[in-house]
Amino acid sequence: MNYKNLCGMLFSLLCGCSSANQEKYASFDDYPVPEGSWEEMSYSPSATSFSAWAPTAEEVRVLLYEQGEGGAPYEMIQMKRAEDGLWEASMKSDLKGKFYTFNVKIDGRWQGDTPGIKAKAVGVNGNRAAIIDFKDTNPQGWEKDVRPQFAQMSDAIIYEMHFRDISIDTVSGIKNRGKFIAFSEENTHTFWGEKTGLDHLKELGITHVHILPSFDFSSIDENKLDVPQYNWGYDPKNYNVPEGSYSTNPFDPVTRIREFKQMVMAFHKAGIRVVMDVVYNHTASTTDGNFERMVPGYFYRQDKDGNLANASGCGNETASERAMMRKYMIESVCYWASKYHIDGFRFDLMGVHDIQTMNDIRLALDKIDPTIIMYGEGWAAAAPQLPFDELAMKNNVYKMPGVAAFSDEFRDSLRGPFGQDDMGAFLLGRKGHENGIRFGIVGGVKHPQLKKDSVNAGPDSWVGSPSQFISYVSCHDDLCLADRLKKTLSNASEAELVALQKLAETAVLTSQGVPFIFSGDEFMRTKYGNPNTYNMSDSINAINWFRKTKYRDVFDYVKGLVEIRKAHPAFRMGKTELVCEYLEFLPAPSSVVAFLIKGAPCNDTWSNIIVVLNAQKIPVVIQIPEGEYRVACKDGIVDTKSGIGVISGNQVKVSPRSALIIHQ
Ligand code: CA
Repeated sequence: MNYKNLCGMLFSLLCGCSSANQEKYASFDDYPVPEGSWEEMSYSPSATSFSAWAPTAEEVRVLLYEQGEGGAPYEMIQMKRAEDGLWEASMKSDLKGKFYTFNVKIDGRWQGDTPGIKAKAVGVNGNRAAIIDFKDTNPQGWEKDVRPQFAQMSDAIIYEMHFRDISIDTVSGIKNRGKFIAFSEENTHTFWGEKTGLDHLKELGITHVHILPSFDFSSIDENKLDVPQYNWGYDPKNYNVPEGSYSTNPFDPVTRIREFKQMVMAFHKAGIRVVMDVVYNHTASTTDGNFERMVPGYFYRQDKDGNLANASGCGNETASERAMMRKYMIESVCYWASKYHIDGFRFDLMGVHDIQTMNDIRLALDKIDPTIIMYGEGWAAAAPQLPFDELAMKNNVYKMPGVAAFSDEFRDSLRGPFGQDDMGAFLLGRKGHENGIRFGIVGGVKHPQLKKDSVNAGPDSWVGSPSQFISYVSCHDDLCLADRLKKTLSNASEAELVALQKLAETAVLTSQGVPFIFSGDEFMRTKYGNPNTYNMSDSINAINWFRKTKYRDVFDYVKGLVEIRKAHPAFRMGKTELVCEYLEFLPAPSSVVAFLIKGAPCNDTWSNIIVVLNAQKIPVVIQIPEGEYRVACKDGIVDTKSGIGVISGNQVKVSPRSALIIHQ
């Protein structure tokens, strides 16, 4: 520490005074917000400048450190108040490799060290920001990295995965198990020769991999990576930095960034786009968190008593409607899209955010690349402190073009209701869920045949187009599909469970919504009956790659469905008018849904496609337009060449608990 700064520090410690320098605002709306973007830290070899947004501060300091953790600051820089609530300072020396924190004084009290709200590189555990040259973070070939070909949301087939789940099993043959760079390894396979990791995803044929939270979160101690630790990562700490525990060296700020980029690049090279799960709705810490330490109160909503509101169920809810929080979210998303080449974003508890923010993010992403996708959970854990019609809830999705939401209706109609794990629905042959399945098949649009009457209830449409509808039967939350089926049908044989798994995936992958697969469901993944495994051990969460061999038949089936969907645009029309006009439901008994799609108007090589989902325990006969049809899927087998057989006549028999796909 130099003498001058030491004196300054001592002076303010002894004095503990000031306040004349402090601004007071009547409401959060009055806080000044800079126009355009600003950087908290800009490095060059000749100088590093710092800029902190702290409109209510009376004093702000930057503390410089030699290490990312431990040790005292070697230098303290007093920041000067600038325009728009910003404070500025700069150092005319080469600070590369150093670390820094801000400390803000308000009403005579120092708020505590924070890496700031916009840190883009951090030390271990993300407590200090790092001064690096971002040019050093680019892996070889990064300049040539391009997003794989992708035209529109309706073409997406999304695969949700956790880095650790998919690669930690030693059977995977992956060297960098549980790390970002597990996916820059090619030709990985099990002892039995089954492809794993990246090659597995290529083999399955999905278009988008959706990675569970991979920004810096707090639940894993990055100092102790030799001890197995597990978390989903829904506990944000630094929104603009990759998580350290997924890197091979969380102590070196450059490594996690470079390895994250390597991962993205490897997926892109394999033709797979990357979606990030983002969790702007709450932060892991409040009082000790980065937002509160910079601008207390501003970034979170309060309830009517002035306490922290909690629509996230995690202790706080952010206030996207406030100018700086909105700007923050837009800039953060765009940062990942432009600097890390991320191709899509999944918003956790999107219903906590407001509609305008989501629409503003959409507009900002469109400027970078309109093929970047956006979707989210159209709900919150409790009612947010904002009027419902302003919130990015599922029922308001039609007001957010280019933003999709998960359909819990389709999910629950298939497998049974949320929170009642032992209750089944359509898949188990329970009557009354047919309209929920039809709703899912048309991607949630207002289809002329989806009329509700006293017998057939069904969900209300909330989409503007089927591309705003995420079709799924399971995800990281709750029981995975095989566990759910087992729970609801405890006496079922292995063969029955396999049959129902296939039936469920057929519904999802023939839906006009955007299909979403939970990683491992393509070979009967089990989490041993545990629904909420967010912090459970690898023994529960790890994908057991042996199951790919054991359930190869299920994998081939799902892979076949993916291939059919990709080859046939009739399954992904993307527009409400087309779905209403060219998809027609055929008469079917209870626990059966049958539909016909006219392929020609969708430029499909198949002219008439018939899909039957039979959840009954007995065979059913369905009347179909007279003709000769080739069979692409029957009795639990998918043949992408449609070589299983030919059916002619005006009716077709469908085996129990199975799907049929035939076409002309
Ligand atoms: Ca972390």
